[in-house]
Amino acid sequence: MRLRDKVALITGAGSGIGQTTAELFAREGASVIVNDIDEAKGKETVRRIADAGGIALYIHADVTDSASVWAMVDEALKTYARIDILFNNAGISGVGAIHEIEPEAWDRVIAVNLRGVFLPSKHVLPHMMERRSGTVINMSSCIAEIGLARRASYSATKGAVLALTKSMQVDYAKYNIRVNAVLPGTIMTPFVEQYLQASYEDPEAAIAAIKTRQLSGNLGRPGDVASAVLFLASDESSFMMGSPLYVDGGVVFG
Ligand code: NAD
Repeated sequence: MRLRDKVALITGAGSGIGQTTAELFAREGASVIVNDIDEAKGKETVRRIADAGGIALYIHADVTDSASVWAMVDEALKTYARIDILFNNAGISGVGAIHEIEPEAWDRVIAVNLRGVFLPSKHVLPHMMERRSGTVINMSSCIAEIGLARRASYSATKGAVLALTKSMQVDYAKYNIRVNAVLPGTIMTPFVEQYLQASYEDPEAAIAAIKTRQLSGNLGRPGDVASAVLFLASDESSFMMGSPLYVDGGVVFG
């Protein structure tokens, strides 16, 4: 087991990549704190982990709200006494070119996808600094490196998360804390289904077009990203610091 006796906090773990990663971490021996803003979805992840014989606890929090995040971290530390791994995964989609986006919609995407990385990090890092140990994985996207139509707010956040990851690594290396980013391509999750439905009259044709942009010819699955996050969370990646890890079926280089 690659995460035996580790404690991992995963934000947005009620669905998609976060849920699959939570289940994988639990199978690898971690105690998993499952965060989500949607209680029913978060508890479903915990149930799936418990049914498979793993250990998990749901803690409700909105990653955009400092008091809420602080209460989550406090409860996690009271329960498990430490947090070894933080996976800042929670995120929402944002569709539109700049002239099409209302300021409120822009602010919400920035809040969840960027402030939602800042706040859990802000509240967990002092604990990791004290223990001089920890690993943080930030959810970016291959969109940080390529231009895609009508994704202005979303790509702004994912580019910022990549830059933030490098900055965090410089600040916390001296505390023996590693900070890396994962950059998925198109992974079939509820998030992508919702984006396709909102953006295209013919979602099936859109999927076909996405596939032609990827060297793999296929869309990814949540498990493809989860195994990369497991690698970043484990000691196997101990020489990776501030790195972007692409899991995109070759879209960046195609
Ligand atoms: P998803 O919608 O299946 O899961 C996201 C989860 O985050 C949901 O359960 C949602 O309730 C939760 N969440 C939303 N706002 C929250 C908040 N304020 N506080 C706490 N939880 C909140 O999406 P997914 O596809 O699994 O995406 C997960 C992450 O991966 C996101 O950051 C997304 O931007 C990123 N990503 C996804 C893809 C993809 O193709 N699916 C590609 C690149 C990056």
